[in-house]
Amino acid sequence: MVMLYYEKRVENVIFFSFNNNINIQNQLHNNERYIRQNYQSSNKSYDFAKSMPTMEVIVGYIRKDDSYQNNVKLKPFELNHNNYSPIKGEGDLGRPVNVPFNYKHIISKYWSANQFNLLASDIISVDRNLSDVRSNKCKNIIYDSISSQASVIIIFHNEAWSTLIRTIRSVINRSPRRLIHEIILVDDASDREFLGQTLELFIAELEIMAKLYRMPQRSGLVASRLLGAEKANSEILIFLDSHCECTPGWLEPLLDRINSKKNVVICPVIDVIKDDTFEYSLGLPNTWGGFNWKMQFRWYNSKIRTNKKRLTYDTPTMAGGLFAIRKDYFQAIGTYDDEMTIWGGENLELSFRVWQCGGSIEIHPCSHVGHVFRKNSPYTFPGGVMPNLNRNLARLIEVWLDSYKNFAYFISPDIKIFKYLTNISSRIDLKNKLHCKNFDWYLQNIYPENYFPNNYTYFGKIIQKNTNLCLNAKVGINGLYSQLSLIECHKLKSTNQLFIFKKNGMIMTEEFMCLDSYELQLKNPNIMLEHRIVLRLCDYSKSSEKWTYDYKTNQLKNIWNNLCLTVEKNNFTSLWNLEMKKCSVTRSTQQSWIFSNISWIT
Ligand code: UDP
Ligand code: MN
Repeated sequence: MVMLYYEKRVENVIFFSFNNNINIQNQLHNNERYIRQNYQSSNKSYDFAKSMPTMEVIVGYIRKDDSYQNNVKLKPFELNHNNYSPIKGEGDLGRPVNVPFNYKHIISKYWSANQFNLLASDIISVDRNLSDVRSNKCKNIIYDSISSQASVIIIFHNEAWSTLIRTIRSVINRSPRRLIHEIILVDDASDREFLGQTLELFIAELEIMAKLYRMPQRSGLVASRLLGAEKANSEILIFLDSHCECTPGWLEPLLDRINSKKNVVICPVIDVIKDDTFEYSLGLPNTWGGFNWKMQFRWYNSKIRTNKKRLTYDTPTMAGGLFAIRKDYFQAIGTYDDEMTIWGGENLELSFRVWQCGGSIEIHPCSHVGHVFRKNSPYTFPGGVMPNLNRNLARLIEVWLDSYKNFAYFISPDIKIFKYLTNISSRIDLKNKLHCKNFDWYLQNIYPENYFPNNYTYFGKIIQKNTNLCLNAKVGINGLYSQLSLIECHKLKSTNQLFIFKKNGMIMTEEFMCLDSYELQLKNPNIMLEHRIVLRLCDYSKSSEKWTYDYKTNQLKNIWNNLCLTVEKNNFTSLWNLEMKKCSVTRSTQQSWIFSNISWIT
């Protein structure tokens, strides 16, 4: 149901929450206000959360679970064997498949090659039905003015048979025939046998026109999508990953929005097809895309971005795999940066370009498409993962970040070297030709929730004057496992000790985390209420996340409770505790903080 976060290759955590503006670490201590449920079934959890709208509820979470991860290399005949054998009713309506426990070793064995549970996928029909997950409001809309047809472009590299075919069948089964002109498949040099002639024979039999093109050599998703776009014959292009499932009514809202706005990239809500059970689970409403200091895509939903005048809502960035765009607009805006290879960075590049050059990126809440989110890439990266990704990111940074490129290189110095190894002049020419706005405009106007250094007083370490120790933020994504402590200042280029003190009083750090002070509710009413400092997902509306700094006394005061950040030695552990105490001159040494400004503008 509620996907707040998915981070490829870094951590394997999905966090479910009705009100995600919470910090698990702290909430779990507090059983009175917060209820923790073990994650059982998404629908049950969601109903549970909805039934208590006034409470902040963690409805469940999945801890890092790498139980299926392994390095098993399948033998060629195993890789090439198509074991699709559906069992009637399995996975129907998006229900999870529970493969019996004694198959666990086989699931594990086939996991690495696909990075999902192939056994589960293989017993679900490629024609499985999915529930209509749209809201009633969405279901009642009648789309009768759509005049254009779409070409659906599905690119793939060594995709499993059942997931690829289920993607295609879900398009056919759940789209009005008059709105689909063709399905275009682009094979990015796969070597699995069943993706050869078997696939060609299969698509020839489809009840819809489908064409298959093959890349002469492994090139990556940009080149493959570009080939698909070039071959497409209708006005509208819709790109899908090769492991998606469209739900009823997915197509009309996308086409309808493009009908009324020409320069738009329109994305469906991307729901989660779980990588282990293939359960279809609904995403949290109002989810939108941002990015972190390392230029990695991030999902957020901490602030409602809905627009009263229209159904779609703006998103600063898109995940990249699933979107619709007019073919002529795609061309006018400069398609993709065709020197980006294999995977990564292209979604942010297209997002910045569209916004900065006059278009918009929107999500249509009435269009739902599921996607199998994977924790790792199953395929090889010719030339290595990091060289490909870092070169792509260097191109993105050089072309679109303007003065913020120094910040990006400060955070990720490994990327910088690639700027000398790649030529971006044609993309700069395009940017000039399109008269695009700068990155500062984008941050301020399109991504005001950003936690980049704009409108700020300080960027750097926060040092406790008396102890010479530094505030240290161990940040988990979307608030998971975050910890604030006072430890030795380090010289490492880690972001843990870097904070941005915004002019509006917020003290932000990586992953949209902010310093916040809260009141601990204690069971015993006779004990004085205690105030604490924590890291939380930033929330602009909260005064408890606003701070003032007294230049004379060096005190850091919280606007909500008027208390000062204080260090106190724990006599038992000899560690320094961070506390919120009354601001006072007698505590001046414990309450004195120095901001050491680090310059990233060179
Ligand atoms: N893909 C491709 N060539 C590549 C890498 C990816 O054709 O070199 C395809 C892949 O099969 C998928 C899409 O690009 O359809 C997006 O890749 P992936 O699903 O791995 O990205 P993710 O969704 O995990 O970000
Ligand atoms: Mn994908």
